[in-house]
Amino acid sequence: MSESTSGASSPSQVLVAGGGIGGLAAALALVRQGFKVKVLEQSPEIGEIGAGIQLGPNAFHAFDALGVGEKTGAPCSPTTW
Ligand SMILES: Cc1cc2nc3c(=O)[nH]c(=O)nc-3n(C[C@H](O)[C@H](O)[C@H](O)COP(=O)(O)OP(=O)(O)OC[C@H]3O[C@@H](n4cnc5c(N)ncnc54)[C@H](O)[C@@H]3O)c2cc1C
Repeated sequence: MSESTSGASSPSQVLVAGGGIGGLAAALALVRQGFKVKVLEQSPEIGEIGAGIQLGPNAFHAFDALGVGEKTGAPCSPTTW
Protein backbone atom coordinates (compact mmCIF):
# COMPACT_ATOMS: atom_id res chain seq x y z
CA MET A 1 0.00 0.00 0.00
CA SER A 2 2.35 2.66 -1.15
CA GLU A 3 -0.31 5.01 -2.50
CA SER A 4 -0.98 7.98 -0.26
CA THR A 5 -4.40 8.24 1.38
CA SER A 6 -4.21 12.00 1.66
CA GLY A 7 -4.34 14.67 -0.99
CA ALA A 8 -6.70 15.16 -3.92
CA SER A 9 -6.79 11.58 -5.20
CA SER A 10 -9.47 9.17 -4.07
CA PRO A 11 -8.58 6.92 -1.13
CA SER A 12 -6.93 3.56 -1.77
CA GLN A 13 -9.33 0.67 -1.83
CA VAL A 14 -8.65 -2.51 0.12
CA LEU A 15 -10.41 -5.86 -0.01
CA VAL A 16 -10.37 -7.84 3.25
CA ALA A 17 -11.06 -11.57 2.88
CA GLY A 18 -12.96 -12.83 5.91
CA GLY A 19 -15.30 -11.12 8.35
CA GLY A 20 -14.02 -12.73 11.56
CA ILE A 21 -12.60 -10.68 14.41
CA GLY A 22 -9.27 -10.45 12.59
CA GLY A 23 -10.75 -9.26 9.31
CA LEU A 24 -13.11 -6.80 10.95
CA ALA A 25 -10.34 -5.38 13.15
CA ALA A 26 -8.12 -4.94 10.10
CA ALA A 27 -10.98 -3.32 8.20
CA LEU A 28 -11.73 -0.90 11.03
CA ALA A 29 -8.06 0.05 11.37
CA LEU A 30 -7.82 0.68 7.63
CA VAL A 31 -11.01 2.76 7.55
CA ARG A 32 -9.68 4.88 10.40
CA GLN A 33 -6.55 5.49 8.31
CA GLY A 34 -8.67 6.74 5.39
CA PHE A 35 -8.81 3.63 3.24
CA LYS A 36 -11.96 2.56 1.50
CA VAL A 37 -12.53 -1.03 2.62
CA LYS A 38 -14.78 -3.84 1.48
CA VAL A 39 -14.99 -6.99 3.62
CA LEU A 40 -15.73 -10.20 1.72
CA GLU A 41 -17.22 -12.95 3.86
CA GLN A 42 -17.89 -16.38 2.40
CA SER A 43 -20.51 -17.35 4.96
CA PRO A 44 -24.08 -16.34 4.08
CA GLU A 45 -24.69 -15.14 7.63
CA ILE A 46 -22.73 -14.27 10.77
CA GLY A 47 -23.49 -16.44 13.78
CA GLU A 48 -22.14 -17.38 17.18
CA ILE A 49 -19.64 -20.23 17.56
CA GLY A 50 -18.43 -21.31 20.96
CA ALA A 51 -19.47 -20.30 24.45
CA GLY A 52 -17.96 -16.82 24.44
CA ILE A 53 -14.68 -15.15 23.71
CA GLN A 54 -11.66 -14.90 25.94
CA LEU A 55 -9.60 -11.75 25.45
CA GLY A 56 -6.28 -10.86 27.05
CA PRO A 57 -5.38 -7.35 28.24
CA ASN A 58 -3.60 -6.56 24.98
CA ALA A 59 -6.84 -7.13 23.09
CA PHE A 60 -8.42 -4.30 25.08
CA HIS A 61 -5.49 -2.04 24.22
CA ALA A 62 -6.19 -2.89 20.59
CA PHE A 63 -9.87 -2.03 21.03
CA ASP A 64 -8.83 1.34 22.48
CA ALA A 65 -6.54 1.95 19.48
CA LEU A 66 -9.42 1.10 17.15
CA GLY A 67 -11.68 3.58 18.96
CA VAL A 68 -14.14 0.97 20.28
CA GLY A 69 -12.67 0.37 23.74
CA GLU A 70 -15.54 1.92 25.67
CA LYS A 71 -18.13 -0.12 23.81
CA THR A 72 -16.32 -3.42 24.16
CA GLY A 73 -15.36 -2.94 27.81
CA ALA A 74 -18.78 -2.10 29.19
CA PRO A 75 -20.41 -5.53 29.18
CA CYS A 76 -17.36 -7.45 30.43
CA SER A 77 -17.51 -9.23 33.76
CA PRO A 78 -14.89 -11.18 35.70
CA THR A 79 -15.22 -14.92 36.02
CA THR A 80 -16.23 -16.18 39.45
CA TRP A 81 -14.43 -19.52 39.59
C1 LIG B 1 -15.88 -24.30 17.34
C2 LIG B 1 -15.03 -23.14 17.82
C3 LIG B 1 -15.30 -22.58 19.07
C4 LIG B 1 -14.52 -21.53 19.56
N1 LIG B 1 -14.82 -21.00 20.77
C5 LIG B 1 -14.11 -19.98 21.25
C6 LIG B 1 -14.44 -19.40 22.53
O1 LIG B 1 -15.36 -19.83 23.21
N2 LIG B 1 -13.67 -18.37 22.98
C7 LIG B 1 -12.63 -17.88 22.26
O2 LIG B 1 -11.99 -16.93 22.71
N3 LIG B 1 -12.30 -18.40 21.04
C8 LIG B 1 -13.01 -19.43 20.53
N4 LIG B 1 -12.67 -19.98 19.32
C9 LIG B 1 -11.52 -19.42 18.60
C10 LIG B 1 -11.93 -18.14 17.87
O3 LIG B 1 -13.10 -18.42 17.11
C11 LIG B 1 -10.80 -17.74 16.94
O4 LIG B 1 -9.59 -17.53 17.66
C12 LIG B 1 -11.10 -16.43 16.22
O5 LIG B 1 -12.41 -16.45 15.69
C13 LIG B 1 -10.11 -16.24 15.09
O6 LIG B 1 -10.49 -15.07 14.40
P1 LIG B 1 -10.09 -14.85 12.92
O7 LIG B 1 -10.72 -13.57 12.46
O8 LIG B 1 -8.61 -14.97 12.78
O9 LIG B 1 -10.66 -16.10 12.10
P2 LIG B 1 -12.15 -16.55 11.93
O10 LIG B 1 -13.03 -16.17 13.06
O11 LIG B 1 -12.08 -18.00 11.54
O12 LIG B 1 -12.66 -15.70 10.68
C14 LIG B 1 -12.23 -15.96 9.38
C15 LIG B 1 -13.41 -15.64 8.46
O13 LIG B 1 -12.95 -15.64 7.12
C16 LIG B 1 -13.92 -16.27 6.31
N5 LIG B 1 -13.22 -16.74 5.14
C17 LIG B 1 -12.27 -17.70 5.07
N6 LIG B 1 -11.81 -17.82 3.82
C18 LIG B 1 -12.49 -16.91 3.08
C19 LIG B 1 -12.46 -16.57 1.71
N7 LIG B 1 -11.62 -17.16 0.84
N8 LIG B 1 -13.29 -15.58 1.28
C20 LIG B 1 -14.14 -14.97 2.15
N9 LIG B 1 -14.20 -15.25 3.48
C21 LIG B 1 -13.38 -16.22 3.92
C22 LIG B 1 -14.52 -17.35 7.18
O14 LIG B 1 -15.79 -17.72 6.75
C23 LIG B 1 -14.54 -16.66 8.54
O15 LIG B 1 -15.76 -15.98 8.76
C24 LIG B 1 -13.44 -21.01 18.79
C25 LIG B 1 -13.18 -21.57 17.52
C26 LIG B 1 -13.96 -22.61 17.03
C27 LIG B 1 -13.67 -23.19 15.66
